[in-house]
Amino acid sequence: MNTPNVAYFSMEIALDPAIPTYAGGLGVLAGDSLRSAADLGVPVVAVTLLHRKGYFRQHLDAQGNQSEEPDVWNPEDALEPMRPTVSITLEGRTVQVRAWRYLVQGISGNSVPVYLLDTDLPSNAPPDRELTHSLYGGDNRYRLCQEAVLGIGGAMILPRLGHGRIESYHMNEGHSALLSLFLLGQHLAGRSVASASGEDMDAVRHKCVFTTHTPVPAGHDQFPMDLARQVLGEEWTKSIGATGCCHDNTLNMTYLALRCSRYINGVAMEHGDVSRDMFPGYPIRAITNGVHAVTWTSPSFRDLYDRHIPEWRADNLYLRYAIGIPPEEIRQAHAAEKHALLADIRRTTGVALDEKALTIGFARRASAYKRADLLFSSVERLRWIAQNVGPLQVVYGGKAHPRDERGKDLIRRVFAASAALKDVVKVVYVENYDMLWAQKICAGVDLWLNTPLRPQEASGTSGMKAALNGIPSLSVLDGWWVEGHVEGATGWAIGDGPAVPEDPAADAASLYDKLGGTILPLYHGRPADWAIVMRNAIAVNGSFFNTQRMVSQYVANAYQPKIEV
Ligand SMILES: *Cc1c(COP(=O)(O)O)cnc(C)c1O
Repeated sequence: MNTPNVAYFSMEIALDPAIPTYAGGLGVLAGDSLRSAADLGVPVVAVTLLHRKGYFRQHLDAQGNQSEEPDVWNPEDALEPMRPTVSITLEGRTVQVRAWRYLVQGISGNSVPVYLLDTDLPSNAPPDRELTHSLYGGDNRYRLCQEAVLGIGGAMILPRLGHGRIESYHMNEGHSALLSLFLLGQHLAGRSVASASGEDMDAVRHKCVFTTHTPVPAGHDQFPMDLARQVLGEEWTKSIGATGCCHDNTLNMTYLALRCSRYINGVAMEHGDVSRDMFPGYPIRAITNGVHAVTWTSPSFRDLYDRHIPEWRADNLYLRYAIGIPPEEIRQAHAAEKHALLADIRRTTGVALDEKALTIGFARRASAYKRADLLFSSVERLRWIAQNVGPLQVVYGGKAHPRDERGKDLIRRVFAASAALKDVVKVVYVENYDMLWAQKICAGVDLWLNTPLRPQEASGTSGMKAALNGIPSLSVLDGWWVEGHVEGATGWAIGDGPAVPEDPAADAASLYDKLGGTILPLYHGRPADWAIVMRNAIAVNGSFFNTQRMVSQYVANAYQPKIEV
């Protein structure tokens, strides 16, 4: 492989189902990006934290109350310890950082090294040893320390690991933005930050790429300057001032990354528009997310594609030719995946779902804006539809962040609706949603539901996983669905989309209209036509919304340092 010249920084990366170092879509995207970079032979090296205690294991009681326990794993079993250490200063203490290596193997022999940073060393003070234990755990101070380990420790350790010629530092979300201040210090080579000029900033900008993921202001990390001074010390605080990244007396990681990057992008076309409105004056582009096609295509569909379009693994564009696969074969492949999912659900929850009912899937982080309960806005109407139009059932999954009370409440509301509907519509909620459940649910249901409050779903990727398995979406027109939706051909829209103001009551009414008026009659009444929709989902969306296309776009637009914005 070529010497890596792109360093990809992400607070979470979903490397493998057995390595619980991810919380949701951001980490899965990072993992999928690296899998495709390895497939394509793009010279990338990645940096994240070890998260020794994992993201938590979720338990749900009979009312849907979530409890959490650490998901401890053994880095020794999965990773190779690296020798070099670097030290950074946090709160005046020296903190040693080391790295563990994981190799993401590509399809034709290339690999991408991933370094998971670890401060759990005997030479560190006890509280510092815990800094790389918990993903999104702890308070603001803990979070800022983690971001310093990631951004500063990560940029520092790369040359020690043999990666000394990085041309592009890609910040996947703002968590790693302190790396830009490290690069500034390096560039100044002993000169004081007070002397930093526009040209010095340009030199840093020349090296950095930033992808923003959150259209919600509260989703952008901010730290009071007093805390920044306490944790990072006086010199770093001065360079925050010198770069003009202090906003309202806070260190804002998004502004830091925006100011220090030559290429900036949102994660879908609509999200690019929203981000330009949020951050006027910054040249924000957009590259729409994708998923790693082979990872998210179920065994039955892998077999199907291998038979009809064997080139699809090396070149996902060949999925376009799924348009020639006989619909009956698509139905058979899907029936096998549905059967397998229902068997898993029966084994783990004891609930026997009906193979003939339209099975709706909704699985993702339980976060308020995703509105897992929109489907139950009117339990009466849903009951009426199921009784009068055709049988349906619903599969849910998703963890709420341990401190997200509104997210936890959403899970309870799904349980309450499940109890209220139980004689007519079966609703199951699987515990501990993770990559493995995602693979099964995104392949085994009949319809993928997504109901975010616009414009908060920057992209969303679970519907792309579903499309690779021939599953159409019923979704609010937000994020990727603005681009992937062709009404009645690849799925269905809830509401009217970005041009019209968000209206939750109208969304709910539209959801019921589509479900009762169009989707259920098609599913139960015209199965051959339903199979054509499935096939379109693969050919139109599976062929495009994958990370092979996405990483190629990053190479063409973001990683070529010669192309300036
Ligand atoms: C794909 C995936 C997500 C992202 O789901 P969205 O619907 O895009 O939010 C979250 N969690 C897991 C485990 C996933 O595999």
